[in-house]
Amino acid sequence: MADQFDLVILGSGSTAFAAALAAQELGKTAVMTEERPIGGTCVNRGCLPSKNLIEAAKLIHDARHPRYPGLQPSRIGLDFAALVAQKDDVVHEYRKKKYESLVDGRITIEKGHVRFVDPNTVEVGGKKIRGDKVLIATGSRPVLPDIDGLERVPYLTSDLLTVDEPMELRELPKSLLIVGGGYIALELGQMFSRFGAEVTILERGPQLLGHGYEPEVGRSIGEIFAHEGIQVVYNATAKSVRQDGADVVATAIAGGREREYRTAKLLIATGRRPNTDNIGIERAGVRVGKCGELEVNEYLQTSVAHVFAAGDVIDGQHSAQQATPVGSQDGGIAARNAFAPDPSQMRRVDHRVIPRVIFTDPQVAVVGMTDEQGTAAGHDCWCNTLPMSLVPRAGAIRDTRGIIKMVADKKSGEVLGVSMVGHNAGEAIHEAAMALRFRAKIQDFIDLLHVYPTMAEALKIVAISRYKNPAKLSCCAE
Ligand SMILES: Cc1cc2nc3c(=O)[nH]c(=O)nc-3n(C[C@H](O)[C@H](O)[C@H](O)COP(=O)(O)OP(=O)(O)OC[C@H]3O[C@@H](n4cnc5c(N)ncnc54)[C@H](O)[C@@H]3O)c2cc1C
Repeated sequence: MADQFDLVILGSGSTAFAAALAAQELGKTAVMTEERPIGGTCVNRGCLPSKNLIEAAKLIHDARHPRYPGLQPSRIGLDFAALVAQKDDVVHEYRKKKYESLVDGRITIEKGHVRFVDPNTVEVGGKKIRGDKVLIATGSRPVLPDIDGLERVPYLTSDLLTVDEPMELRELPKSLLIVGGGYIALELGQMFSRFGAEVTILERGPQLLGHGYEPEVGRSIGEIFAHEGIQVVYNATAKSVRQDGADVVATAIAGGREREYRTAKLLIATGRRPNTDNIGIERAGVRVGKCGELEVNEYLQTSVAHVFAAGDVIDGQHSAQQATPVGSQDGGIAARNAFAPDPSQMRRVDHRVIPRVIFTDPQVAVVGMTDEQGTAAGHDCWCNTLPMSLVPRAGAIRDTRGIIKMVADKKSGEVLGVSMVGHNAGEAIHEAAMALRFRAKIQDFIDLLHVYPTMAEALKIVAISRYKNPAKLSCCAE
């Protein structure tokens, strides 16, 4: 006999928890299933540990490189193992508070690898569980590229940040070769470089970040990395790897030439794929897309009416992003839709405005469309890119690194997208996100009084540049 629940959830990440809590609010019973630490990627091996350690690396960097003449550089000693141990403490505490403590009463967890038995039943740890409704929230995992010899050498993935698992990295490597130039490569690359590792990034394209980002953003962060001594090799494809003593040697085609890179540790950061290939999905009868993503409609319903999916596992469908707030919002929507009295009461997902931040220093923050995406969507676009040196706050605090780019519809003036690289860009981008949500126009950014001097003023200044040369304005002038 299978245990019976109103909602069976595959996974226990932030998407799953949001769904379980929504089900609980509706008076339903929910069970989550998990084979790794409870709480999923964000708390255990993603957002939380990375942001914890990135800030520590910034403290080291800022002490060594004070921006102000008159401040003497100083060296902060580094005990990497102790730093990792405090990271683990932060994760344990947060996991307990925000995840484990919520499991009681109507919400339960079953540990073990979960697989479908039929569209309503899963098996986990030798137990069968049946749900009236099912949510698949199994997240994603690192993609392994086709590199000859990879299976024969030790390599790291973003799982190096994990806690309570053997993949956790506890010793600082002397050197780190990163394959990939996306957000994980940038965040971890700069962090390890600041801890003292010699970092080299192999980027496939002509600039960092590539697809989905403005080219100016990739170029700007690339210059900042170069200035910090992080080596980025552009137009580089890793072909093979081999072990040589304690080192790994990678052979790559870079700029048309074959080159070798010797490293103490190899980090593969070439993207993530949905976890749908090891859950017996065929027994659920659910349709899966080309890259392993679960196909869903805008109500997060799969091709089988009572089975829903949300979070990383749906990848970029309906303009979703693999990010915790997206999964959390969608997890709640999926659970409520699953129990909607009739389909007319289901809620559609809304992925039109998703602000995103890469926690490099300075931060990369984007929202809405790039110039290319705006044009492809049929807009006649105006856009402009300005250096952060035009922003009074950046000058005042002696950190003028970065750029801001705004994209708007030429005729209506509606702002379609903003990209920033700059100090506190991750905070300032929320003004742009709210503006996009309410379809604000260029003039709205100009008319809004901004606090002086803040980094958010960058938005006003780039908007003014539609009509005037912002280099010729006095402070706060419009
Ligand atoms: C290094 C890194 C940094 C990140 N930083 C940020 C950030 O700063 N901000 C942000 O918004 N996002 C960030 N992300 C992305 C974010 O972590 C994910 O988008 C989010 O955690 C996805 O949540 P989820 O619930 O969909 O999946 P997950 O949290 O991955 O949960 C899915 C769970 O399902 C389990 N599972 C899968 N298959 C099975 C199975 N067959 N049996 C049992 N259990 C199974 C997995 O073990 C996993 O715990 C980061 C990711 C990484 C890797």
